[in-house]
Amino acid sequence: MKNIALLGSTGSIGKNTLEVVRNNPDKLRIISLTAGKNWKLLAEQAREFKPKYVAIADTKYENELKSALADTNTIVKSGEEAVIEAVTINGVDTVLAAIVGAAGLNPAWEAINQKHLICLANKETLVVAGELVMNAVKKNNIKLVPVDSEHSAIFQCLQGASKTPLHRIIITASGGPFRTLPKDDLNKVTVEQALKHPNWNMGGKITIDSATLMNKGLEVIEAHWLFDATYEQIDIVVHPQSLIHSLVEFSDGSVIGQLGWPDMKLPIQYALTWPERWNPPLPKFDLIKAGTMSFFEPRYDDFPCLKIAFNAGKEGGIMPCVMNAANEIAVRAFMQKKIGFMQIPEVISNTIDSFKNEPIVSIDQLITLDAESRLKAEELIDRL
Ligand code: NDP
Repeated sequence: MKNIALLGSTGSIGKNTLEVVRNNPDKLRIISLTAGKNWKLLAEQAREFKPKYVAIADTKYENELKSALADTNTIVKSGEEAVIEAVTINGVDTVLAAIVGAAGLNPAWEAINQKHLICLANKETLVVAGELVMNAVKKNNIKLVPVDSEHSAIFQCLQGASKTPLHRIIITASGGPFRTLPKDDLNKVTVEQALKHPNWNMGGKITIDSATLMNKGLEVIEAHWLFDATYEQIDIVVHPQSLIHSLVEFSDGSVIGQLGWPDMKLPIQYALTWPERWNPPLPKFDLIKAGTMSFFEPRYDDFPCLKIAFNAGKEGGIMPCVMNAANEIAVRAFMQKKIGFMQIPEVISNTIDSFKNEPIVSIDQLITLDAESRLKAEELIDRL
């Protein structure tokens, strides 16, 4: 039995995780749940899964949540500290980290300190603090299993291959909704168009990141830390059908990939069951139904976010943290229709340019820097 703290239960990954738990009640148990604001859905989930503890980050909703769960035994708290506390509840041994953005860093960090099994969807945690996180994972002798479909694919391809030198990682990218849109038209795309991902049904922020290709950039940095790969060993290939989730090339030239329907339930279940494999959470994969698969070079010049992320990753130090914060602010401003689609990379670049690199020493330093970078990005947006 795995006893789970599910961080971000009301989001896209959170809801898919609960579906996996629902299908495996004899093997998976929810101990705690957390959300940002959506107290209604959190209360519904608590009624169904009967956790010991729920936390809502926004303190405004504590009373509503408490009233909705007044006749249950579930402890209800609110605020950022309460979200972190969710991973410390007695009985938790596994944390599925699915909060969006750098807000997921502190709870994930506490989960590592608690020496739990970490199933990580929140890629921003590794982008912002990859070095500290991976060192702490090693020091605490715990396992961090990726949930992100591309990294789950790479992780699966590497099972049993520990003595075989990894030569290259090939991360596939759908290319997003604007894969074939001419460069000049990218300036005019709307929020509604950017939110229509061709293959994946995901939360708003990651869907916009997929349209700008920043999502792929974040994944490159995530892969660098997870698999101890240099940036030169990581390639991106656009694969519009999202059926091959990623591939690994070994030193003898052999390439191994993982295939499946584009649905997060499979990588979520694999992270929770690793190293075992349970019954399939999806209809059987079918190559005939899958049909044609095609592959293209990314349009690096037209979608500058991918290069920005590669460069920030290579520079290291605080740069990925600054980039991530600026991206979160720029994406929010785009979704609020304050800036255009092509101003997202502009805001990120200009924010990065206004910081001098320095080495990372602590999580507290990164939290401060994250706040400073957000302020800088907001200031730049106001001046546009
Ligand atoms: P969603 O936006 O759908 O959900 C985010 C979750 O985080 C919600 O439960 C939300 O609560 C909660 N949340 C938001 N802000 C805060 C905060 N400040 N403090 C605490 N909780 C907060 O995102 P996704 O599920 O799409 O993505 C989650 C993470 O997983 C991201 O890092 C993403 O990159 C990664 N990921 C997602 C994939 C996908 O298919 N969706 C695929 C691979 C990785 P509320 O609902 O109340 O706002």
